[in-house]
Amino acid sequence: MFDTLSDRLTSVLQNLRGRGRLSEADVDATAREIRIALLEADVALPVVRTFIANVKERAKGAEVSGALNPAQQVVKIVNEELVKILGGETRRLNLAKTPPSVIMLAGLQGSGKTTLAGKLARWLTSQGHTPLLVACDLQRPNAVNQLQVVGERAGVPTYAPEPGNGVGDPVDVARRSIDEAKRAQHDIVIVDTAGRLGVDEEMMRQAADIREAVQPDEVLFVVDAMIGQDAVTTAEAFRDGVGFTGVVLTKLDGDARGGAALSVREVTGQPILFASNGEKLEDFDAFHPDRMASRILG
Ligand code: GDP
Repeated sequence: MFDTLSDRLTSVLQNLRGRGRLSEADVDATAREIRIALLEADVALPVVRTFIANVKERAKGAEVSGALNPAQQVVKIVNEELVKILGGETRRLNLAKTPPSVIMLAGLQGSGKTTLAGKLARWLTSQGHTPLLVACDLQRPNAVNQLQVVGERAGVPTYAPEPGNGVGDPVDVARRSIDEAKRAQHDIVIVDTAGRLGVDEEMMRQAADIREAVQPDEVLFVVDAMIGQDAVTTAEAFRDGVGFTGVVLTKLDGDARGGAALSVREVTGQPILFASNGEKLEDFDAFHPDRMASRILG
């Protein structure tokens, strides 16, 4: 995903090699190059502005002393600023003191929500949890079945309304899944909600109603990193319409330019908790800002 950005940044920073001192003009020229690289990678403009301002200020103020030469110092600063916009510390999942914890997933159709539900369930199982998947996407005819298939692959049961018994209200299903989790001793409930191809008021309202009804410990906004700048506007719409406590980036294995991944934390103010990078259940992990920054800087 970050190949082009990574190449650009590496070459910009390489140009500084061998310098004894960096003049203000050198710092400005480097900052300009970094700015272009970030914009070309589709990073949102306000994020680029903050990033460049911070890098410039720190690079100009940096004392040329100690173990690092000027080029190394700039590399260090760029790395630290990247970690900062990606969220700083790794943010762990927030779980309830008294089980079951409720994790609600929200996002557009096609963002990878159902796949993510399976990945998260599998990952939580490997950590000793006993999750229950809950099918609250009752709008798309095949959605329940898809979640069941993903659940089977992950080795985790799925709670869904019985076909034909009239239990078609997603808020009701979400509520009753908590009782089911208590009864069958699942310590985490993962609620999959309906998505649409575009942001849609009814979808937002339904997700907001489910949130209100089950008071999740986490609401994770699932976003496809391949959709570029749209990721930011979609994130803003979900923040305002439903509200969320964390972000999951999917399709990081794709060849998009990566700007979405770099913008979403700063724009929404919510941390990225997980990253999904492939179609297989195991292509998934907790998101570590420092590792992502190192990957970008090569
Ligand atoms: P939903 O509509 O949000 O539930 O999305 P799905 O989970 O059905 O995913 C939509 C498509 O994206 C499917 O073809 C998935 O296999 C694919 N997908 C999901 N996550 C990833 C990922 O991390 N990488 C790639 N390459 N494909 C993914």
